[in-house]
Amino acid sequence: MSEQIKETKTESATNGAQKPTSPNSDLKLDFASFWEYSTAPESGDFFDLKESYDHFIGGKFVKPVKGRYMKTINPSNEEVIAEFAEGTSEDVDSAVKAARKAYDKEWSKLSGKERGKYIYRLARMIQGRSRELAIVESMDGGKPIRESRDVDIPLAAAYFFYYAGWADKLDYAFPGREAKPLGVCGQIIPWNFPLLMLSWKIAPALAAGNTVVLKPAEATPLTALIFAEICQDAGLPDGVVNIVTGAGQTGAEIVNHPDVNKIAFTGSTKVGKIIQKSLAGTDKKFTLELGGKGANIVFEDAPIDQTVDGIINAIFFNQGHVCCAGSRLLVQEGIADRLIQKLKDRMETLIVGDPLDKNTDVGAINSKMQFDKINEYIEIGKNEGATIHQSSCNLPDSGFFCRPTLFMDVAQSNRIVQEEIFGPVLTIQTFRTPDEAVQKANNTQYGLSGGVWTDKGSKIFKIGSQIRSGVIWSNTFNKFDPTSPFGGYKESGVGREGGLHGLYPYVKLK
Ligand code: ADP
Repeated sequence: MSEQIKETKTESATNGAQKPTSPNSDLKLDFASFWEYSTAPESGDFFDLKESYDHFIGGKFVKPVKGRYMKTINPSNEEVIAEFAEGTSEDVDSAVKAARKAYDKEWSKLSGKERGKYIYRLARMIQGRSRELAIVESMDGGKPIRESRDVDIPLAAAYFFYYAGWADKLDYAFPGREAKPLGVCGQIIPWNFPLLMLSWKIAPALAAGNTVVLKPAEATPLTALIFAEICQDAGLPDGVVNIVTGAGQTGAEIVNHPDVNKIAFTGSTKVGKIIQKSLAGTDKKFTLELGGKGANIVFEDAPIDQTVDGIINAIFFNQGHVCCAGSRLLVQEGIADRLIQKLKDRMETLIVGDPLDKNTDVGAINSKMQFDKINEYIEIGKNEGATIHQSSCNLPDSGFFCRPTLFMDVAQSNRIVQEEIFGPVLTIQTFRTPDEAVQKANNTQYGLSGGVWTDKGSKIFKIGSQIRSGVIWSNTFNKFDPTSPFGGYKESGVGREGGLHGLYPYVKLK
C-alpha cells in the first residue's frame, strides 16, 4: 500500500472522518484506504513442471523434427516458465497420420459406450489434477487463481462429463438418423481459456468418434500438455488425441493439411477470415468462434446493485480477455448517473495483482503484445474525446497489469465502441427507449453476446429476441454451461459449440 494511503488511514482513524484519498476526485467511497488484505498465495510446490515440452503425437512425447523450441512466460512477472516445441509441416503431418491411424484402426470401431468410458475417465482425471491445472493456467495465462480454480478447470471437466454422456446416445441425439464421425479433426484454440477451449473442442469430437490434432495458443500451451499426460495416464488409445504446439504458422499447417476432415477454430476475426478463405473450395467442415463486442443493456427497472456486479463480471472477468465480454454498457438515461457512480465505487474494491493470490480479482494481461494493444486503445479513446475513468488501485512493479477502465461520453462511431479491445476496458453509452437500445446494441460487425438487465420478464424476451447475438444473458453475464450452445452471428463466427448443437459439427448424418 502506498505511503499516501497509509497516512490517510491514520488520519481517518484519529478523526473518524472518511477522507477521499483517491486520485479520482469524483469517488464517494474510498475502499483502499480502509482495509488491506494479507496476501494469500496459492502454492505450486506440490508438482513439477518440466523445463521443456515436446509434441504429443501417437501417444508419446516426440521431439520436433526441426528441433526448434519457443518459450512461454508468466505474464505477471515476465519470467520464462518452460520451453515448448515449435511445430512445422513435418510435425503436423506425423500428428495427422497418427490421428488417421487411430481413427481407422481403433477409435471409429469402438462402441459409443467404450468411447464414453474413456471420456469419463479424462473428466475424472482433470478433476484429480484440478489444483495443479488451475495453478498452471494462472501462471501461464495471468488469470486470477480464483477464476481458474472455480470456473475454468471445473467447467473443462464438466464439458468432458457432458459429452461422455452423449457418446453412446447419438441415436437419441439425432433421432431417425445415423450419426457417423468425420475422421480427423484439426482444432486450434486461443490463449484466454486454454483448458476450457480444449474441452469444448476435444470432448464432442471424441464422443462422436473422431480423432484430433489440437494446437494450443503459443502464449498458453502448458495445460494442453498436461492434458496430454492425462491422456497417457488414462490409457487413451495412441493417436486419438495429438497435441502439436507452435504459433500461427503451425495452425495454418493444420488448416491446410489435406487429410484433415474438419477444422474447429476459436480466435480472432482476422485469423478466422484467413482460415475461412483457406477452406473455401475444400470439403472440410468448419466451425469458427471469433471476436465480439457484446452490449450489456441496463433498463431503469433493473436491480441496481446486482446489475453493478453483473457489469463488473461482464467486463473485468479474466481481465476482459473474453470474446463474449459485455464490453459496451448501454444504460437507460434515468439511472445512468447513479449506476455509473456505483460502478466506479465497486471498481475501487477490485484487487488487481498477482494471479496466484486468492484475493486477486483482476490478474495480469496475457502478453506484452496484448498489453500494448490495450494501452493503444486507451490512447485512441482519449484522442477520440471520450472521458476516461480508471480505478486507483496499486499495480505490481513488474508484469503486465492494466487498471479497470471506463470510457464515458463516447459516440457509436468511435473506434473504442466498434472494435474489440480484449481487455478491462468498458465503454458507456446511454439510451432513452428500448428501440434505441436495440439499435445501438446491433450496430456492430459482431454478434456473439448480449445482456439485458430489467425487472420485467416480458422485456427480457422482447429485447433478447431483437439482439442479433448467439448468446443473450438476462440479469446475469458470462455464465457457461456444457448443455448450452454457444456461438456467433455476423463476424463473430459460424457454428455452435456446447450442448446438442455442439455435436452436429462433428458428425455426418445419414
Ligand atoms: P489473438 O489475436 O487473440 O492472439 P489469434 O486468432 O491470433 O488470436 O490466435 C488464436 C489461435 O490461432 C492461436 O492458437 C494462434 O496460434 C492461431 N493462429 C494464428 N494465426 C493462424 C493462422 N493463420 N492459421 C491458423 N491458426 C492461426
